[in-house]
Amino acid sequence: MKYIEFTTPDGSIYQESKIVFADDLRKCECCEEPYCDICDTHYSDCDCLGPSNAEEEGWSLVERDNVLYAIREVTIEANFKTD
Ligand SMILES: [Zn+2]
Ligand SMILES: [Zn+2]
Repeated sequence: MKYIEFTTPDGSIYQESKIVFADDLRKCECCEEPYCDICDTHYSDCDCLGPSNAEEEGWSLVERDNVLYAIREVTIEANFKTD
């Protein structure tokens, strides 16, 4: 999964990932299944967030400029950094 991380002015850290729809992907040459070029695998096997699994995995859906994104707040404990 590809996501960006950003910090709000109050210090909260969020991750944001674009929702990937099967319809947005090209078809695989061999089997015609949707193919995810980000993960380099079939959509059914890729770990991109789709409209159906994002909320199950604890993300909130937000729409911006007609594009759907998943965002979630990162807890400090889960985001140890060594630098
Ligand atoms: Zn295929
Ligand atoms: Zn993917």
